[in-house]
Amino acid sequence: MKPRSRLNPNAITLTKYDSIPTDILGLNSFYELGYARSLLHRRLSEEKITNPNELVDLYNRLLLDREFQAIFTKQGDINSHWILRLASAQSPETENAFIQNETKLFQIRYLRTTKEDRDNYMKDNGIEFEQLSEEHFRQLIGFLQFYPVYGQGNAKIPLQPHREDYYKVPWEQCPHLIEARKVLLFKGDAYVHTDYLVTPLAHDFEVGMRELSKRALNIYERIPLYDARLIDPLRAMVRRPQTALAGSDVPRMLTNETIEVLAPNSFPPCMLNLYLAMRTKHHLKYTGRVHFQLFLKGCQMNLEECLAFFRSEFSQSVGDNKFDREYAYGIRYNYGLEGKRQNWQPKNCNAIIRSLPGGDETHGCPFTFMDKKTLDGFLREGCCLTEKDGSNDIEDIMGHVFNDDNRRDCHLACSAYFRAKHDNTDPFAITPIESPNQYYSESLKYNIRKQKKKDEEEKAKNEKEAAEKTSGEIKPTVGV
Ligand code: SF4
Repeated sequence: MKPRSRLNPNAITLTKYDSIPTDILGLNSFYELGYARSLLHRRLSEEKITNPNELVDLYNRLLLDREFQAIFTKQGDINSHWILRLASAQSPETENAFIQNETKLFQIRYLRTTKEDRDNYMKDNGIEFEQLSEEHFRQLIGFLQFYPVYGQGNAKIPLQPHREDYYKVPWEQCPHLIEARKVLLFKGDAYVHTDYLVTPLAHDFEVGMRELSKRALNIYERIPLYDARLIDPLRAMVRRPQTALAGSDVPRMLTNETIEVLAPNSFPPCMLNLYLAMRTKHHLKYTGRVHFQLFLKGCQMNLEECLAFFRSEFSQSVGDNKFDREYAYGIRYNYGLEGKRQNWQPKNCNAIIRSLPGGDETHGCPFTFMDKKTLDGFLREGCCLTEKDGSNDIEDIMGHVFNDDNRRDCHLACSAYFRAKHDNTDPFAITPIESPNQYYSESLKYNIRKQKKKDEEEKAKNEKEAAEKTSGEIKPTVGV
């Protein structure tokens, strides 16, 4: 059978990613590719699978997942690798996790590809392992047949070795295989089946990844000179939880990581406004801090996560030392661990609506104080509402704020906003919204229900597609 890479020029082939791609990508594609790769890493690392056969099965299932379609093409694979590589250059921890996940990905792909692709990869990368001559093979066959390969039983059942499957490898390049008695050691050389060759090749791949790290860091450090808009998305790719509402999992806990997914989807406009101000100014004035911290506390964000979230932002404007000296106390106070040690409650809508911001403050209900143009811009850019497909969401919300009676009806506007964000569902149709925390909890309930339904549909569809494709798919040749 011909290798898939020859049949399909877009198929992914084994590569060391040593050439930096030069494609021109839009900001959205750039982010989506990097984010999809980081999600793939998460899916591979959170499954506690070590059995190569099961890893290959997992990968085969991910191939059917729409979330990863963009990165399962030759160019998408290379671009997404380099985007996440740049994002991961930010710290030794993220870089290390990146290299480990990429090495795992390499191993899986090696195991499920054809011998011809494997040989091409070695040839392209100057890796030379000697194949056995007919004569040499005849001398060793009596021994080789008692060294089982992946998924082919144990040494008590003799194999039918094929000459072209074996390579002569210097013993020092595969000590683990020798130690595990998986390969024949003869006169100082190991005789390694092509499937077991994944071990020395993965080691070589990992070394190559580490050698490229410095280059990635150099590029990452120069990004602000070229296009500073890339910095935030790159930070978010490794900071954000690698799950999304559009993916297979709705985060249920509000943490320093999940807030990036939950805020745009489940925060009411008043809290989203504070969240966005934090992300852009890396600071909030006193009242905004109190409202926001109590809201987060009411959403079950624990103290450590809240401190980590505020530190990660404030340290960019005031530095770590000042944050610890002047701002961390206020968070602990709001959580009831300092001063009067009271269990302070989150503010309700009425309190927030009455609290009008002044100067460069950001607290308050946006439906009370924003003028028409500012509110319109906030709904479109901050809240990501559009008029696409004839939607009149924005008009509906604005209609409750700028009406003929000159009365800003914040509760109705907020209900309309909830409908716009939740497929026209409105839990506040009968009893008006009371607090931002009530909004958040209703939103979370809705999204979890929706995700559950979507997962069930997706599972049924994947099972159907997998059953249909099984006959045409090249099956992995290996297992443990
Ligand atoms: S109505 Fe309440 S929850 Fe909605 S934005 Fe205003 S203060 Fe926030």
